[in-house]
Amino acid sequence: MSKPKVAIVLGSTCAGCDYSLLDLGPTVADVLASVEVVYWPTGADFKLSDLESVPDGGVDLTLYEGAITNSDNEELAKLVRRKSKAVVAYGSCACFGGIPGLANVSTANDIMKTAYVETWSTDNKGALLPQPTSKLNGKHLELPLTYDTIRALDQVIPVEYYMPGCPPPLSYIEQALVAALSGKLPPPGYVFASERSLCDECKRTKEKKNLTAIKRFHEIIPDSQRCLLEQGILCMGPATRGGCKAPCVDNNIPCRGCMGPTPEALDQGAKMLSALASILALDAESGVSEGVITPLIQQVKDPLGTFYRFGLPKSMFRRVIPRR
Ligand code: SF4
Ligand code: SF4
Ligand code: SF4
Repeated sequence: MSKPKVAIVLGSTCAGCDYSLLDLGPTVADVLASVEVVYWPTGADFKLSDLESVPDGGVDLTLYEGAITNSDNEELAKLVRRKSKAVVAYGSCACFGGIPGLANVSTANDIMKTAYVETWSTDNKGALLPQPTSKLNGKHLELPLTYDTIRALDQVIPVEYYMPGCPPPLSYIEQALVAALSGKLPPPGYVFASERSLCDECKRTKEKKNLTAIKRFHEIIPDSQRCLLEQGILCMGPATRGGCKAPCVDNNIPCRGCMGPTPEALDQGAKMLSALASILALDAESGVSEGVITPLIQQVKDPLGTFYRFGLPKSMFRRVIPRR
């Protein structure tokens, strides 16, 4: 029997998803021996032509990591779609737009200006910005077009599977690889994550205490047994899929929501706001006025980074046009 053909490709990524594969340890060697890797530029000196030379539909499983932030990412995604029987949106950036998706409150030009002109450490007196095409030493250079709107993978191509996480939990990587090796991949649309919320698998005690103050993480030494949210620390557990085994919460760090929205949530941020409101509402029931609740909400210092850290492109807002 021929070995399953696998590709691992990178869009706009920090490559953390890629490195998480190495967490498989010695299993990586077994996996690599059991599959034929047709493209994995991080793992070996593959060229794009290696992937292009595979017949259409010839790759059994492709893991695509990273968001779609530029024309290169989009072209690669479309190539992958043509070449692959099944594509996994691998990691939160591919599933929801991830951290790069926070750029959807800005424009490509403004981001370029910040990065290349305005940062205090930049010495760029001519305020030069990268140009799509230029000449250097007589050679024609072409840069990919950076998009104003960052997209998740399935906003560009159809995707069979989703494996959220920043990076995805090891157990799901193993599950997907075992399924691919045995030819028993789940039905399309499957999400390699829990169907329950993170709170459902969190071991901390929940007492339904009223929230009297929202604390920033450095302002409090949290009780390691009690629910962080009930201590005033914004923990995204109620709005986030479980399956990661809560490593952050176990280490006294609030969940940031990297596993994405719970299956029934239309919008992770809205779901979290609703969970937060329900704790504040307990106060309201006991007679606390709006005048008290509003200042409480104003204690949320970074609403976008808190409620939409990993999923702005797949949220109801998708992007926000900056005011001029
Ligand atoms: Fe990096 Fe996280 Fe995005 Fe993976 S999901 S590419 S680890 S930022
Ligand atoms: Fe655990 Fe966070 Fe949910 Fe509280 S809000 S139960 S700390 S996951
Ligand atoms: Fe991601 Fe939250 Fe799990 Fe941490 S606890 S890995 S932020 S889903």
